[in-house]
Amino acid sequence: QRLRERLNKGDSILTRDITELLPSSGKPDEGTLEELETRLLMADVGVDATRKIMDGLYERLDRKALADGAQLMAGLEAEIESLLGPVEVPLVPEHSGEGPFVILVVGVNGAGKTTTIGKLARRFRDEGRSVMLAAGDTFRAAAVEQLQAWGERNEVPVIAHATGADSAAVAHDAVQSALARGTDVLMIDTAGRLHTQAGLMDELRKVKRVIQKAMPSAPHETLLVLDGSTGQNAIAQAREFNSAVDLSGLVVTKLDGSARGGVILAVARELGVPVRFIGIGEGAEDLDVFRAKDFTRALVE
Ligand code: GDP
Repeated sequence: QRLRERLNKGDSILTRDITELLPSSGKPDEGTLEELETRLLMADVGVDATRKIMDGLYERLDRKALADGAQLMAGLEAEIESLLGPVEVPLVPEHSGEGPFVILVVGVNGAGKTTTIGKLARRFRDEGRSVMLAAGDTFRAAAVEQLQAWGERNEVPVIAHATGADSAAVAHDAVQSALARGTDVLMIDTAGRLHTQAGLMDELRKVKRVIQKAMPSAPHETLLVLDGSTGQNAIAQAREFNSAVDLSGLVVTKLDGSARGGVILAVARELGVPVRFIGIGEGAEDLDVFRAKDFTRALVE
């Protein structure tokens, strides 16, 4: 319910007045589907995911399974859900070995990394897990302070070095410290911008290598935080981060407000990486576990 209110606050562009798309007979035809296709593309669903959904709908049309507007809506919902189902894989921060579950968090500046880490710190702590944070964005002084503020608010320790320090060294210290203290979950923040984009990707690869060296099974999760309101740009980012550090999960933020949630369909189709959580506000509670069925409902209804 909360998801539906927030997601559709901007525009339920997918289904707004779908009856308008129907011919006077009330029976969906090829023209209806063409207009629906345009709407999907405008809602940031992306070319590939849109084609997948449309193939399914044309097949239903051929089978004469789209007799009216209600069947069209139901068909659209089913196609979207089948696209999102495979990326619904909730994150459980536990592994079979010893030591902390290490989450490396990456994403461009402003995507919502620090906020998401704060929200997750609270969630994991509420689940009874001990949490530690590492301020790996040493490039931006404000990033370290912001993470420390979240740490204080949630009473979780934050490992930080001075601004300009080597972020791989911060990650290394944090893993050692979490191992020594028996921490359950360690989340490592990273820079979202360096002098160059190539420099950033090199640094992230290095941070990952250093983590692996300090604890061979880590990181157990490499999580990309994406700003859902950036549309197709989010897809390009996801691709680039995935090729640099091999993502295991995604968080899509800012799905409240003006974002068009269709971007999740595009990344699901493009990367096939699990969508772990979605951000639907700035508060500590505004992070939901991604559920394909709930999300589809909120998107379509
Ligand atoms: P970072 O640079 O990636 O660490 O991004 P921040 O965590 O600093 O977030 C950038 C801005 O986005 C902040 O103003 C956050 O409050 C805001 N933000 C993060 N997640 C969400 C969300 O899910 N919804 C909304 N509306 N704002 C968000």
